[in-house]
Amino acid sequence: MAQDCIFCKIGAGAIPSTMLYKDETCFVIRDIHPKAPTHLLVIPRRHFTALTGAQATDDGMLGHLLAVASKVAKQEGVADSGYRLVVNQGENSGQEVPHLHVHLLAGRKLAVMG
Ligand code: AMP
Ligand code: ZN
Repeated sequence: MAQDCIFCKIGAGAIPSTMLYKDETCFVIRDIHPKAPTHLLVIPRRHFTALTGAQATDDGMLGHLLAVASKVAKQEGVADSGYRLVVNQGENSGQEVPHLHVHLLAGRKLAVMG
């Protein structure tokens, strides 16, 4: 756990949150500033800053995040209408929290990315 990391604190229960899903590898919360009617964050429990630092041994964890995103999309009833998964990495992406997370956006027609 990184001392000042908001997602590490949420994962450890130091900051209360409503987890829509949790297991030993990751958890899912609602984004505090939603950009779509459904805006979830799939967050690994382990502090993991950037994909650049990923090792081959992280492949399972990274794949698991997508599997969980698919699971919660079904749970939230947005699997059929569609959704977008986004991973921001670094300054040009606008990444605010330096702990890897997958955004799941759904519930409206999403603009073409750019
Ligand atoms: P990113 O810009 O990809 O790093 O996204 C970070 C996201 O985390 C933003 O969409 C924030 O609204 C969201 N966020 C920050 N703090 C919290 C929090 N305490 N609970 C839920 N979402 C948060
Ligand atoms: Zn962290």
